[in-house]
Parts: sequence; structure tokens; C-alpha cells
Amino acid sequence: MAVTVVGSIAYDRVKTPFGERERMLGGAAVHFALAASFFDEVRVVGPVGDDFGEAELAILRTRGTSTDDVEHVSGGRTFFWHGEYGWDLNSRETHDTQLGVFEHFEPKLSEPSRAADVLFLANIQPDIQRQVREQSGARFVALDSMNLWIEIARDSLMKTISQVDCVILNDAELRQLTEKPNLVQAARALMAMGPSVVVAKQGEYGAALITAEEFFALPAYPLETVVDPTGAGDTFAGGFVGYLARHADDLHDGATLRRAMAYGTALASFNVEEFGTERVARLQADEVSARVADLQRITHFEDAPIELRA
Ligand code: AMP
Repeated sequence: MAVTVVGSIAYDRVKTPFGERERMLGGAAVHFALAASFFDEVRVVGPVGDDFGEAELAILRTRGTSTDDVEHVSGGRTFFWHGEYGWDLNSRETHDTQLGVFEHFEPKLSEPSRAADVLFLANIQPDIQRQVREQSGARFVALDSMNLWIEIARDSLMKTISQVDCVILNDAELRQLTEKPNLVQAARALMAMGPSVVVAKQGEYGAALITAEEFFALPAYPLETVVDPTGAGDTFAGGFVGYLARHADDLHDGATLRRAMAYGTALASFNVEEFGTERVARLQADEVSARVADLQRITHFEDAPIELRA
């Protein structure tokens, strides 16, 4: 079954301690689509400007992703983001965000995009996320967001969250949004608003899954070289939500959710090895499977109980 995604389609300027790119393909919906397309047909909804090139569209279409609902706004500029990372790759500074064609964007979903069973509201203004949510007939809806929208559109974001099944946020954003210092408390606060699944992304420390019934956590895949973390969260979401889309009859099954976490983790690990979309655009299915198998081995242990001293 198909996955529809709305979110930024962008040009990114990024500097990390290991290099920089002046203008590369980025955007939350783009990173998501590159990962989710390993599992299912992905349909991207969003606008681009005159500056968006054919080469970038071709990357977006990797593994058959549909760009039928990517609207070319004549005379407009594509969303632009400029960020910089220091030695701590878990935190970054945003120097510039230019909404461009997203500023006056009113999404109109085509029939196939409305009909997709799974919808991902990737990072963009929560009003736009809600307009898409309201047009969609999806039976599972997940959402991501970020500090900018928590700061400038908090009420709208809360309203959107109350209309989704799953929230995927950074741990710091979860705390900022709920004003709860503890992850489990923060997740419970969100679940009280409607969602039944909360995923807390923790950068190089991995990700945690919280539902009413369970808690599950995975470390990040151990890498020796990380070059650019931009898009890691969206790539994780693409793996997680994409895996769930392929298992739509078991969406609330704990074992399925845990496997989805493994696929999200494996995919995100490739994203950070090179700048932007460079690595995931040429990634092969067998490479993903190999890292999922590694993760299973790395995280498995068997207890050999001993008598503990009293
Ligand atoms: P991530 O590293 O997973 O948080 O995602 C990075 C991507 O999000 C970049 O490719 C940016 O183009 C995009 N981005 C940055 N800021 C925003 C924003 N305020 N709204 C939507 N997308 C954004």
C-alpha cells in the first residue's frame, strides 16, 4: 500500500566539521521518501520553485517515488535551509530558513495520494500538515516537527498532533513541547492528546519507542565515520513508517513496531555517512538488510542469572 508524505522539499546549505555543501538537495519529505521507498510506493506532496532542477527531481523519483503531487510554482523559490554543526553532531545551529513557495502553499491531494493507507506529516508548518491530514483517508498517520514550529506555531502543532496516531520527535523537542523533563512522562502527555505511538529520536544514542503497553529502545548503528547528520531523523522516519506501511494489518503489534525501529535505525545510519541525500540515493536493499541483521546481533543478550549478594 502506498505512503503519502508532505514536508519540506528543499535546498540545504550545510557545514559540518568534515566539510560543507553550498546548495544540495534536502528537505524532510525528500529524506523520508528516499528511505520509505525501500518498502512501498511513496507519493510526495509539496511545492518547488523555478530553481528546482530536473536532476533533483530524478533523485526524488528514486525507487519509483511519485512526484505527481509535487507542484511547480512558477516564479517561486524552493524552501531553503542553512545549518551548521560543531563537533557535537547531536546539536546544530540554524542560520537561515526561507519558506519560499511553502509560504502560500495550499495542498491539494490527488485521488491516489488521498487513498494511501499511511500518511507521514514530515516537518513543515503544522497548518499545512493539518490541511493534508484533513484530505487524507489514511488509517495510520505519523508526524514529525521541530523546534522552530514548537516556538512559533505551538497551538497549531498541538492541534495537528491530536489528529495523528504516531509522533516521532527528537528527545529535546519532546521535552520542549510537553514541558516534561522525563521522556516517558513527555510521551504519556502526548498520548493523552490522541496518538498511541511516540518515538523519541536521540541522535547518536539511538531511539526509543513508547506506547501504552511497552517501551523499547535501540542504540544508533555503531559507525566510525559520521559526516553530516542532516536528514537522519527523516530517514529514520522513512524506514520506520515505510516498514509499518508494509505491515498495515499489524500496526499496533509490539513486535512489528520494534522491527520498524530497526529498519529506521539502519537506514538513518547510512544517511549520516555522507552529505545530504548522497548515500541513501545509491543505497542497495542488501546493504540495509545487512545492517538490520547486525543490529539484531549487537542488541541481543541472554541473561545467565546468578545469585546476587543480599
Ligand atoms: P533532520 O536533520 O532530520 O531534522 O532534517 C533536516 C532537513 O529538514 C533538512 O534537509 C532541511 O531542509 C529541513 N528543514 C530544516 N528546517 C526546517 C523547517 N523549519 N521546516 C521544515 N523542514 C526543515
